Amino acid sequence: MSTLLVAGGHVIDPKNGIDGVADVFVRDGKIAAVGKNLKEKADKKIDAKGLTVTPGLIDLHVHFREPGREDKETFETGSRSALAGGITAAVAMPNTSPIADNQTVVEFILKRSRDLGLINIYPTGAITKGQEGAMLSEINELKNSGAVAVTDDGHDVQKEGVLKRAMEYAKTCGILLMSHCETKDLTEDGVMHEGWISTQLGLPGSPALSEDMAVYKNILLAEKTGARLHLMHNSTAGAIRAIREAKKRGAKNVTAEVSVQHFALTDKECMGYNTNAKMYPPLRSQEHIDAIIAGIKDGTVDAFTTDHAPHIEPEKLKAFQDAAFGTVGLETSFAVMYTYLVKPKHISLKQGIEKMTSAPARIIGINKGHLSKGADADIAIFDTAKDWVVDEKKFFSKGKNSAFIGKKLRGKAVYTIVGGEVKYDRGTIIA
Ligand SMILES: [Zn+2]
Ligand SMILES: [Zn+2]
Repeated sequence: MSTLLVAGGHVIDPKNGIDGVADVFVRDGKIAAVGKNLKEKADKKIDAKGLTVTPGLIDLHVHFREPGREDKETFETGSRSALAGGITAAVAMPNTSPIADNQTVVEFILKRSRDLGLINIYPTGAITKGQEGAMLSEINELKNSGAVAVTDDGHDVQKEGVLKRAMEYAKTCGILLMSHCETKDLTEDGVMHEGWISTQLGLPGSPALSEDMAVYKNILLAEKTGARLHLMHNSTAGAIRAIREAKKRGAKNVTAEVSVQHFALTDKECMGYNTNAKMYPPLRSQEHIDAIIAGIKDGTVDAFTTDHAPHIEPEKLKAFQDAAFGTVGLETSFAVMYTYLVKPKHISLKQGIEKMTSAPARIIGINKGHLSKGADADIAIFDTAKDWVVDEKKFFSKGKNSAFIGKKLRGKAVYTIVGGEVKYDRGTIIA
C-alpha cells in the first residue's frame, strides 16, 4: 500500500465544485480524500503551499506520430512532453503510418501506452479507410478494440453522403465522431488565413468561410442522424456562431473544442514568413479571436486542446508555402490558457481548468478529470505566479516547432502525478 499527501495547495476540482485551500490524500493510486488539514500519515508528501492543484489535464487532440514517423515524435517523447505540461491523458490522432483505420493499429497504440506507463493514451480510429474520404472503416471493430472516437483529422470528409453514413454507423456503434472542418474546394492551396496579412505577404489564403461551411454541414448532419459529433479546432467567428445556434436549438449531441493557439495568436505571427505560425486551421485575425473568447465565456466552446503537431526541423525550414502545417503545444497549453484567458480576466481559473479536465473527459466518456473519492489519482500541480519565456531547446518533445517561441507566458506545471505516482517533479521526468 502506498500513500501520498499533497498538502496545503489551492485545489481546483470543477466537477466537484472545489476551489480553495485543501489537502489531497492518495492511497494505492486512487483519490482517498480531499479536505482541510487531513491527518493521514503518508509515505510521501508534497508541499503544495502557494501552488494550484488540479485534476491532471486531458488533451483531446494530439499527434504522437507513432507508428511511422518516430523521427518527429514517439509515444515516449510525446508522453514526457505531456507530463511537463501537466497533461495526464491524451487522445491520439489516427493520421499515422500506417493509418489507424483497423484493429491492429489501435491495439498497438494501447499496448505501447500501457508498456510505457507514463500517461494515459486513448486511441482514435480513422472514419474512412486510409483517410481517403471514400470507404468507411470498420467503425464497430475500431470501437471494440478500444478507440474512443473516430476522426479523419488532418483531412475533412468532403463528401456529404460518406459523412452522413459515417455518422449513422458511429451512432449505431455508440462512438463519438470528431470532425476536422475544412471545405477543400474553398481552401485550395491556402497556407494562412485569408485577409490583410496574407495579401501583404503575397501568400495564398485559406478563407474563414471554408471552415464555417464545413462546421454548418457537420452540425446539420449530426442533428439529422443523432450521432455524437465533436467539432475540432474551431477558429472562426462563423464556426462559433454555428455551434452557439445549434446548442440553442437543443443539439445536445454536439460539442466543440478550441486549440489554445487560436484564442492567443493572430495571423500577424506569420509576418516575416515565420513557418512556426503555419498551421491548419490557420491563425486568424483579431475579430475571430474576439468571437472565440465570447464563445468560451458563454459555454459555446466545451474544451481546450493543443492539436500538438510535432515536425522535424527541415520541414519547417522551407519556404512558407512548402513548410509543414502545425505547432507543438503539450508543454505550453496550460500557460497559454492562463496567460491569454485567466490573466486578462476573460474567465476564472476554475472555468479554464474545467475545459481541460472534466469537460474533455465527458466528451470521450471516461471517468477521469476530477478528484472524487475513488477516482484515479491523476493530478497536476501548477505555479500560476511563474513567468517564463518559451525556449524550444528545453522541450521534452522532439518537435521544436512552437508558435510560442520567445513569448513570455505565466503558469507552469511543477508536479504531474499519474495513478498516484509522481511522474514529473520540478523539471524532471521520473520514468
Ligand atoms: Zn485538424
Ligand atoms: Zn490535428
